[in-house]
Amino acid sequence: MVCVAMRSPDNLLARAIVAPGRLLPFGSEADGARRIAAMLSAATSLLRRRPTAGAADVLWALWSSAKVADSWRDAALAGGRAGARADRDLDAVLELFAAAETLAERLPGSSAAAFVTHVTAQELAADSVTVRSSTSECVSVLTPHAAAGREWRHVAVVGLQEGAWPDLRLRGSLLGSEHLVDLLAGRERSVHAAQTAIRHDEARLLHVAVTRSRERLIVTAVQSDDEQPSAYLDVVEPRLSGDARPFTEVERPLTLVGAVGALRREVVTSPTSMTSEGTGAPSRAARTLAVLADHGVRGAAPETWWGLRSLTTAAPRVAGDTPVAVSPSGLVDFGKCQLRWLLTRVGGDGPSVGAAAIGTLVHEVIADADAPVDDSVIGQETGGEPVDRGRLSEALDARWARLGLDGGWRERAKRADAEAMLDRAVTYFSAASQDGWVRVGAEVSLRHTLGRAEIRGVVDRVEAGADGRLRIIDFKTGSSKPRLDEVARHAQLGCYQVVVAGGAFGDGLESAGAALVQLGKAGTGQIARSVQAQPPLAADDDPQWAERLIIESADVMAGAQFQARVGDSCRTCPVRTSCPVAPEGVVLQ
Ligand code: SF4
Repeated sequence: MVCVAMRSPDNLLARAIVAPGRLLPFGSEADGARRIAAMLSAATSLLRRRPTAGAADVLWALWSSAKVADSWRDAALAGGRAGARADRDLDAVLELFAAAETLAERLPGSSAAAFVTHVTAQELAADSVTVRSSTSECVSVLTPHAAAGREWRHVAVVGLQEGAWPDLRLRGSLLGSEHLVDLLAGRERSVHAAQTAIRHDEARLLHVAVTRSRERLIVTAVQSDDEQPSAYLDVVEPRLSGDARPFTEVERPLTLVGAVGALRREVVTSPTSMTSEGTGAPSRAARTLAVLADHGVRGAAPETWWGLRSLTTAAPRVAGDTPVAVSPSGLVDFGKCQLRWLLTRVGGDGPSVGAAAIGTLVHEVIADADAPVDDSVIGQETGGEPVDRGRLSEALDARWARLGLDGGWRERAKRADAEAMLDRAVTYFSAASQDGWVRVGAEVSLRHTLGRAEIRGVVDRVEAGADGRLRIIDFKTGSSKPRLDEVARHAQLGCYQVVVAGGAFGDGLESAGAALVQLGKAGTGQIARSVQAQPPLAADDDPQWAERLIIESADVMAGAQFQARVGDSCRTCPVRTSCPVAPEGVVLQ
């Protein structure tokens, strides 16, 4: 018998770092791990030679073997976001050395191990490299809560923006103590009551903030394409005469990034008036940018300006009549936003983490325990036996380490989420069985051609009704679900039905509809409300809608232009920085 111990990715990485030979087969993706291995090796060889080496010596061995001093210095001098990060990293290293020196002064001869114990035991940083000014002549930066009960001659309340103040989002605490308070106070608990309470709290906080000044109160808000002042601004300073509120033009920020931005604006707004010897503002701005570019300041060189770049290609994504790969779930994403669909298809959303990874695991567990993975069973009765709930948990156990979670209450909460999904799955299996559905397949691959669309995917579960018609089930493990009125034209479900009718699961088989089963937080205790069923296409007023959608989508997917469609999905969009209609990506316009 061969026993294979499951190890978490963290565990495997740690083992590879202490035995760097294990990193040899990897390419540049393991450079970070190799660097850490080299640092550890330098520190351990120093301690082997000089077991009494102090913390500062060991830190120096670690730092010099990291070989990042030059690159961090260059990045810090170049400015920008990377520069700010390099600044912070360098400060952190200096702080660590300063802490080692402080400990050595307090406890001469203390070991490196004592320093590690000292630092890890700190709950708050004991010291800072930042020189602190005297607190009597400084500006206090506080939240309204922290300012309560105090007064100053001058007070500025900044950022009175719509959505930020009042912030009417419902919120709670980790332990839900506010529910206990409501219960003890005999207060009503409903969404409406909670929103009213928040509105009152926000108004109270505003009152606290604007009553802290003895002489002068300044309230600021920004109005721009993306931001609007809060309605509270009119409460603080009513415009009784109906006059428009005067605006103050904001000076460019006194930062390197701000200076480069202002110079670039100067250059691009009057490009024709520039000459190499000119004395006008655009010419001077261009010369200043050239100097900054020579010194490697980020964003100063025109070659790095997105707006000046030409398209790399205007050719269609898929040439000629070549078939276009279409996945049923991709159709939903494509319908919401074509640009997001395109960018996430090529890696824009990064690896799946957190909830998505747990969802994948739950899908695997259900598929293994629910039905044999065998396309040949389609059309035959293979189900019927009740699913063993305990077996599902065991299957989850066997895979859980793959998530690489670090233990503690967070991991326990995620495990509870996964178990709740399995509970809902088992409840669904039993309800479907009672309704006469028999599972005839799980994790079944599908492939079907329609126009240019080559539909490919994997179906979570295929069920047959008493009349032999097939129903496709898709398990969802997320926390949101389509609205009820969207289900009848849900692209993924419609696509499944087209595939069934097209003979992908056997000639002559008819579709009995398709359904989403919400196993995640979008599901409820009542399984009937967690099943979102689409009736058979034949019963729709327009039975061809799904076929048309697939054919038209495939044509656009093959093209050269993809629309960015603003909608609900923008809030959680992973490619906002590459989207010209999102504030984060507006530079691409
Ligand atoms: S931010 Fe919105 S519009 Fe832009 S790509 Fe993402 S989903 Fe599409």
